[in-house]
Amino acid sequence: MTTTWKLATRAEKMNPSVLREILKVTERPGIISLAGGLPSPKTFPIQEFADACAHVLHTDGQAALQYAASEGYGPLRQAVADMLPWNVDPAQVLITTGSQQGLDLVAKVLLDPGSRVLVETPTYLGALQAFAPMEPVPVSVASDDDGVIVDDLVAKAAGNASQEAARFVYLLPNFQNPTGRTMTEARRQAVSDAAAKAGLPIVEDNPYGELWFDEAPPLPLAARNPDGVIYLGSFSKVLAPGLRLGFLVAPKAIYPKLLQAKQAVDLHTPIFTQRMVSAVMKDNFLASHVPTIRALYKRQRDAMVAALRREMKGLDVQFNVPVGGMFLWARMPEGIDTVKLLPRAVERNVAFVPGAPFYAGPGDSRTMRLSFVTANVDEIDTAIAALAATVREVLAE
Ligand code: PMP
Repeated sequence: MTTTWKLATRAEKMNPSVLREILKVTERPGIISLAGGLPSPKTFPIQEFADACAHVLHTDGQAALQYAASEGYGPLRQAVADMLPWNVDPAQVLITTGSQQGLDLVAKVLLDPGSRVLVETPTYLGALQAFAPMEPVPVSVASDDDGVIVDDLVAKAAGNASQEAARFVYLLPNFQNPTGRTMTEARRQAVSDAAAKAGLPIVEDNPYGELWFDEAPPLPLAARNPDGVIYLGSFSKVLAPGLRLGFLVAPKAIYPKLLQAKQAVDLHTPIFTQRMVSAVMKDNFLASHVPTIRALYKRQRDAMVAALRREMKGLDVQFNVPVGGMFLWARMPEGIDTVKLLPRAVERNVAFVPGAPFYAGPGDSRTMRLSFVTANVDEIDTAIAALAATVREVLAE
């Protein structure tokens, strides 16, 4: 008899990333990709890692290769607590295998099938994917250039006779993926106050917060109401994503459950990597390293904005000027569907990410996400010129 693999309902809900499918066409040599969310490899501190690796192996080799605590490496938890701009007890820090794992743990601990989870319009697709196996109902909260709109948040958070209150709202206040937008000070405080009043938990995802260009963004939501927020952070964008090293800071009321979920997933985040990063970070390495990333990305953001202004002249193209992070959000003229535009752009050797998959509800098919960090300034110029030529060509058909 042939073996029958009866899938769990949750597995039925897992889909290959829509994006990955769409972006298959971009995996061709010669393409300038503005699509991927890949930090510039030029920023990876390879020599520092080589030194730290030797140091860890020579001084703590046995411990570095042994099983370790699920909570994470003590000195790294302390370093995370010290890094954050509010009073964090290291006992509230859980080191995760990338902040992506933080999203998985949060979903496991807080979502049942049918639970409503509130998200921005649009939101980080990877979070929707991380939540999906728990079979929640993602609900889009109306959003503008400053983030979620408070009245809509409050309205959608509430429960009534036929539905339970939303389990949490997932927010990205700094240089959001995909739009690059930043929540203003006033909006943060209003969201924080409204969530506290409604008893609505916040999951705050902040992998890009350190990548500001001219001034640091306003304080995180977690700093305003630490008991009402699970905060997710990452070393991917300030050191290297291949480390798969992130962290979460959780209120004491929920930390033990997140820890139990973490234990079940992978026992602990690789201790070798944790010790290595801890060694790299000593003597305040990030204080000198991160400004070099900011400067590079700012130059490339400027190049992209200048190229868009130059090349899209006369077209009804709107785009924002992000004040940090990795992404810019653009809206193409009426008549352009960016999913259909992509293969045409690829013919001209440029790739971007269509915006529609980032919406929990119906997507805006005219939008696209452009990364300004992976390609260099010359490539950005070439790519935006090619993109504009593609748009003009399609409009003329
Ligand atoms: N959250 C957001 C908003 C992201 O953009 C990413 C990376 N693309 C992640 C979380 C996951 O990052 P990591 O697992 O590398 O920390």
